[in-house]
Amino acid sequence: MARRPASERAGIPLNVFFMTTPKKPLTILLASPRGFCAGVDRAIQIVERAIERYGRPVYVRHEIVHNRFVVENLEAKGAIFVDELDEVPDDRPVVFSAHGVPKSVPAEAGRRNLLYVDATCPLVSKVHRESERHAASGRTVILIGHAGHPEVIGTMGQLPPGVVLLVEDVEQAEQIEVADPLNLAYATQTTLSVDDTTEIVAALRRRFPAIQGPKLEDICYATTNRQAAVKAIAGRCDALVVIGAPNSSNSMRLVEVAANYGCARSRLVQRAADMDWAWLGDAQRLGITAGASAPELLVDELIEACRARYDVTVEEVRTTEESVVFKLPRALVA
Ligand code: SF4
Repeated sequence: MARRPASERAGIPLNVFFMTTPKKPLTILLASPRGFCAGVDRAIQIVERAIERYGRPVYVRHEIVHNRFVVENLEAKGAIFVDELDEVPDDRPVVFSAHGVPKSVPAEAGRRNLLYVDATCPLVSKVHRESERHAASGRTVILIGHAGHPEVIGTMGQLPPGVVLLVEDVEQAEQIEVADPLNLAYATQTTLSVDDTTEIVAALRRRFPAIQGPKLEDICYATTNRQAAVKAIAGRCDALVVIGAPNSSNSMRLVEVAANYGCARSRLVQRAADMDWAWLGDAQRLGITAGASAPELLVDELIEACRARYDVTVEEVRTTEESVVFKLPRALVA
């Protein structure tokens, strides 16, 4: 004969036993600022407004921002994402992504008489103009960034081949050879680790004391603020989740920052459905943040998923206020 469960033998019906099992406590330390930055917000609005103004479909060259959820939402509204311009029909508008594009892309769009809207973040455009200014003064530009990232491809593509040299880490900074060390400048990708970049710049300055650089770093306000907020909570967390996409540079840097500042158990999660609850184990304090391309809705979703499993208390830790807003291109306003 099958043995009855212990709760039943003790006279406790099974359903009552499960209903009354208390949830374990979990304190969520919510980093702030987190999630959408002004550049991402602007890029999404550009696609939405372009669809309203020009009708469906509007083509978008590359993921407008690195987040599947955002991309799928825009697809549902009438956007079609493509890798290259030759996939865009002559009679439809095309939007360039927030990461920026090489000069050859708008040139080709112009040659084909395509209607195009550039959603490049103004802070990325600023790096483009800086690099051009240095090149016009005869300087070689060392770009600190990650090979293959669309922003790096776009920045290098502002100038003829050979004018911009890429350096990815301190080791490369220690080894790079330049033709004229007295005519040199550096620029950076906007979404790097603040700490790593400081080390790379220091190595370049040591080797090339005459190197010129931006007055303030090219790493943008949003990247800097999100990393600072993670630094503020990492040491208090047993585990930390960054909501973001694996191809999102700023999100990946947040995972590294958390690990470097006291929370070795840190990982990227695209959304609540991807959460590995076993990984969380017996953590009592969970840090949550989101990369600059991850909508707040995905943060809410993860907190709700935690509430279904734990007795949750949320503590928001704000390190600074953000009020940056970028204007939309004139063609899409009013
Ligand atoms: S992360 Fe920074 S550079 Fe990139 S879109 Fe946002 S504000 Fe612009």
